Amino acid sequence: MKSLKPCHTFQIDAQSEDIIEIQDNSQIEILIKEGIFQRKFLILGSGSNILFTQDFPGTVIIMNTKGIHKIAENSTYVYLKVSAGEEWDHFTQYCVDNQYYGIENLIGIPGKVGSSPVQNIGAYGVELKDTLFQVHAISLETGKKRIFTNEQCQFGYRDSIFKNEFKNRFIITDVIFELSKIRSFHLEYAALNSEIQKLDQPLTLSLLQETILRIRNSKLPDIKEVGSAGSFFKNPIIRKSQFETLKSEYPKLVSYPIDEEFVKLAAGQLIDICGWKGYREGDAGVYPLQALVLVNYGHATGKEIQVLFQKIQKSVFDRFGISIEPEVNIW
Ligand SMILES: Cc1cc2nc3c(=O)[nH]c(=O)nc-3n(C[C@H](O)[C@H](O)[C@H](O)COP(=O)(O)OP(=O)(O)OC[C@H]3O[C@@H](n4cnc5c(N)ncnc54)[C@H](O)[C@@H]3O)c2cc1C
Repeated sequence: MKSLKPCHTFQIDAQSEDIIEIQDNSQIEILIKEGIFQRKFLILGSGSNILFTQDFPGTVIIMNTKGIHKIAENSTYVYLKVSAGEEWDHFTQYCVDNQYYGIENLIGIPGKVGSSPVQNIGAYGVELKDTLFQVHAISLETGKKRIFTNEQCQFGYRDSIFKNEFKNRFIITDVIFELSKIRSFHLEYAALNSEIQKLDQPLTLSLLQETILRIRNSKLPDIKEVGSAGSFFKNPIIRKSQFETLKSEYPKLVSYPIDEEFVKLAAGQLIDICGWKGYREGDAGVYPLQALVLVNYGHATGKEIQVLFQKIQKSVFDRFGISIEPEVNIW
């Protein structure tokens, strides 16, 4: 058995039968021929969106392929092909250095590029789908390459076809981005906007990078020190009518419009109102600066984190009648 502790950010002491690192896509063909994908397997990037509640009885495949290549450009856009194993923040740094606009609000998100379409990563009013051009993948059943257009990825809020119909059926090898060469920022998100207003110089990509990293560091744990997978729950989407009823009892309840019928609530606020912020049970806890983040202070087991998240789900449901679902993959 091999320890999974260095392969994920929750720092849970779980094991797997084997761990294989993919450095080159040709290895995937060999693994398919060897029948690895007909047995129990799990694909990982940096493991920053997974909670192990038990050992993994199979092979963990870690994507480590590297490369960022410009494949086309015109006067407005540049098209970059990025290997699945590139660190997301290495890629965002490349874009800041080259003045390519579009993914700057997603700076600081842990993980690898190949995982980014799986849950359509998002932050500060921007989602991956806004700049994703194509996903290149290999079918684990046939070994054939397939290109997914943005539309074919069926992106939703922290969701895509790779979390649903094609979960464990494709390995993402590369992501193609369409980024703007023309200076343009997305500053509509209130928390970001108010920080930008405080700057007394013209906004640049590197200034925005600094600002976003400052905001993130003030709210999120440092994964080198505390185990975590970031926001543990998705923000729930509920009917406007239910929101109006709740608002009469909780006037400070925050909501974001979705459409005529639905609004999105802040799961962290609901958890906070239920009194969980800063709660700790052994080494499993709720981060004191952000109630949406569950943490492992050292030796928590995956089961202990699971017991805690289920208690939180129950208390939010009992108080508001709202089910909050994990954003994190649970094994
Ligand atoms: C401190 C912290 C802050 C975070 N902040 C944010 C945030 O602001 N916004 C946000 O959206 N997320 C956030 N996250 C969650 C996480 O960083 C993202 O979901 C990230 O994209 C996960 O990347 P990863 O490589 O670690 O994925 P992993 O956890 O390794 O994998 C995630 C899923 O993708 C699948 N997968 C991985 N690689 C491939 C591949 N090549 N082909 C097919 N399937 C694959 C895995 O099987 C798994 O189901 C945060 C996490 C942490 C710890």
